[in-house]
Amino acid sequence: MASLQDYISQLNLITEKLTKEEFSDKIKGSLFGMAIGDALGARTEFVSKEKCIEFWQNKPLSMLGWECSMPNWEEGDWSDDTDQTLLIILSWLALERVDDTDFGARLKHWLDHGFEELGDTGGCGVGAVTQEVISHEKFLESPWIAALEVFVKRNCNLARTGAIMRTHGLGMIDYEDLGAVVRSAILMAKATHSDPRSVGSAVAVSVSISLMLKGLRNIEQVLDIAYEITRRAMEDYLNQLDTMTSSIAAELQNIYLQQKPNIILSSNPEILRKYIRPSIENDLIPLEEEGDGYTYKCMGVGFWGLSQNDYSTMIRRVITEGGDADTNAAVAGSLLGCRIGYSQLPQSLILQLKHRVWLENIADHLINKIYH
Ligand SMILES: [Mg+2]
Repeated sequence: MASLQDYISQLNLITEKLTKEEFSDKIKGSLFGMAIGDALGARTEFVSKEKCIEFWQNKPLSMLGWECSMPNWEEGDWSDDTDQTLLIILSWLALERVDDTDFGARLKHWLDHGFEELGDTGGCGVGAVTQEVISHEKFLESPWIAALEVFVKRNCNLARTGAIMRTHGLGMIDYEDLGAVVRSAILMAKATHSDPRSVGSAVAVSVSISLMLKGLRNIEQVLDIAYEITRRAMEDYLNQLDTMTSSIAAELQNIYLQQKPNIILSSNPEILRKYIRPSIENDLIPLEEEGDGYTYKCMGVGFWGLSQNDYSTMIRRVITEGGDADTNAAVAGSLLGCRIGYSQLPQSLILQLKHRVWLENIADHLINKIYH
């Protein structure tokens, strides 16, 4: 089997370079598509499907007129998914490299203070695994060791959405170099989530964003390539895990070795494929399997969303399913937003975003740095 780098080198993409206008439309489409999905989904995160249907029935999609499942929420505000995506982008804009310790420091500061320039007093909506990893004594020095220890202590079964929700921006930053996208997605995913499924789903979404920014318009092809790259990246990452675990305490290494067969089984390429392709072929949102907050479910929803045509119809269907609605809608919104562009997003929803000007400035700054 060709290695990941061989596969990438042999890819013969027949695409036309996007004009700066088209490129900007896609970057802004992805960032605003994420933020709108997140802000709408946050209203009914982890609410039952029945209650979600009741909440959204006969109502226009709106972030205004407040009733929300989350405490202390403000109209038009997005949640941790968008905030953490922007933390990664802001870290790259400051350093011009992807750096997990800089991101870790920003993440910890954000958890305590939020974005102070937006008047936040703390980061909201953070998942339990991410909280536990950030609180780990080794987190600031070495985020991936903190994350690995938490993963192993939880019997090596933590395929949560905390990584996939924030890594799609990495598909923008290095879009010209798919190998770099994979390395960055792995680095930033494993900064809090070591489970190969969390890492793999982050890779799949980031690579898909890059392929669209390279000008690939055929979505079937985007998904086939994303699958092939992710399958190989997960294989490499499983080998990396062996080396990584040599840096943790002996009793934790023993748990890892005991759990290794289960890790390999759950990282099986067939399961990965199931969440990338059949959901589209059958027009099904894979929301009914596993628990809420399962990273493959979020990836499946994201790729289903990518295959849809109308942004509002797609987001409504995703958030009406309940569960991890903001994260599912943020990832699906980012993918479809990248495909159709900012110009095809509903203007009324863009205007409802409380911090849209701030987001637009970040998007413009990013576009100017990465478009060549
Ligand atoms: Mg959230």
